[in-house]
Amino acid sequence: MSPDTYKEPAPYHKGEANPFESMLIRFDKACKMYNLDPGLYNYLKQPVKQVIISIPVHMDDGRLEVFEGYRVIHDNILGPSKGGIRYAPDVDIEEVKALASWMSWKCAIANIPFGGAKGGVKCDPSKMSQSELEKLTRRYTSSLLEVFGPDTDIPAPDMNTNEQVMAWIMDTYSMHARKTVTGVVTGKPLIIGGSRGRTEATGRGVMIATMAALEKKGVKPEETTCAVQGFGNVGSVSAKLLAEKGVKIVAVSDVSGGYYNKEGIDIPKAIEYVKKNGSLKNAKIGNKITNEELLECDCYILVPAAKEDQITGSNASRIKARLIVEGANGPTAASADKFLERKGIMVIPDILANSGGVIVSYFEWVQDRLGYFWDEPDVNNRLMRMMNEAFENVYKSAMQYETTMRLGAYIYAIDKVSKVLKLRGIYG
Ligand code: NAD
Repeated sequence: MSPDTYKEPAPYHKGEANPFESMLIRFDKACKMYNLDPGLYNYLKQPVKQVIISIPVHMDDGRLEVFEGYRVIHDNILGPSKGGIRYAPDVDIEEVKALASWMSWKCAIANIPFGGAKGGVKCDPSKMSQSELEKLTRRYTSSLLEVFGPDTDIPAPDMNTNEQVMAWIMDTYSMHARKTVTGVVTGKPLIIGGSRGRTEATGRGVMIATMAALEKKGVKPEETTCAVQGFGNVGSVSAKLLAEKGVKIVAVSDVSGGYYNKEGIDIPKAIEYVKKNGSLKNAKIGNKITNEELLECDCYILVPAAKEDQITGSNASRIKARLIVEGANGPTAASADKFLERKGIMVIPDILANSGGVIVSYFEWVQDRLGYFWDEPDVNNRLMRMMNEAFENVYKSAMQYETTMRLGAYIYAIDKVSKVLKLRGIYG
């Protein structure tokens, strides 16, 4: 690759890249190390399709409001594109483009036959009624009928969208198809074609990736301690399953703050508490700490499972953990990478560590198409096999290129997608 194909990243506000820029910085580095052909680099950097639509909705008070919606297909080289839909006031096409490419790398690493996509609608769902959300979802879906499809592009939930929204998408698409097409979307309720094990899948994948990393380090789970930031779907399930493997969970936190207990936190009790009270606030499970303190606390494993940009150039050098397993998307800013590397901390990157969710989404799509549904142990065993394979492939790639697991993951994905692209060739 000619050096001038790569431009130095633009200066970012407050000296920090946003999560998507962070992702692109790593992608660029990996392309350089892999020596990707400049033409293929340009091909893979851009999405193949970007759709922007207007979504008119009659609101409950009679007003007609028009929302902006997006669907971006980053690529469909490995198969139909796959990726969630987010409803948020600040979502825009740039964010959706970046998230779509993230999905391409995640699917390639997981070895599932999907390309990457993402969708979004600029709206504030917290200020909308169920009926307004339903109308918005149905019109969004009907405007994208030629994009969505079980063989073309398969959406899923993301920020502020849930099982109900997926059920409306499935129904709207099916009404137009004049038949029930469950495979058009994943993350559906179990009774209309959802998969067993989907709710726990991401946390379970985090646990499997952590066990694989400990094995490489030659450390037994019972000898380790762990801090988990975020106690929602991913954080609480990761904590529970790691504890079941013998890891002592010494710190947990959510948006209300955190707790440290060197004797170990009773995770089932903490989960019960959150179920009853909505958050960890005032839970009697340890000494109170802040989220910043949790990241820097004395532990062997750190699982950031809350939100992006938690580990940055400012706090990375104070982190004591020896292993970071990224449950959240983008919890480590690119500015932190060199500090973590210098300290010899092993980082299992988001595009590998939290891929359990998209793997079980793939299982849901397969089951819908077969019309035959697996039991939970079957789902979990298949997830374990695929996560372990993905981990091993990334580990080998990191060893071969003498680099970090993060860059090893990107290189593995770039290698796979670019090889398939070369085999398929460029039509036209
Ligand atoms: P969630 O909404 O269920 O939980 C989020 C948790 O983070 C909550 O406990 C919340 O209180 C906490 N939190 C929010 N802001 C915080 C802050 N500033 N400091 C500390 N804690 C904070 O969300 P989730 O589904 O568990 O997702 C968490 C992360 O994992 C996100 O980055 C998401 O994109 C990523 N992810 C989720 C899935 C999935 O299947 N749910 C799959 C892949 C990646």
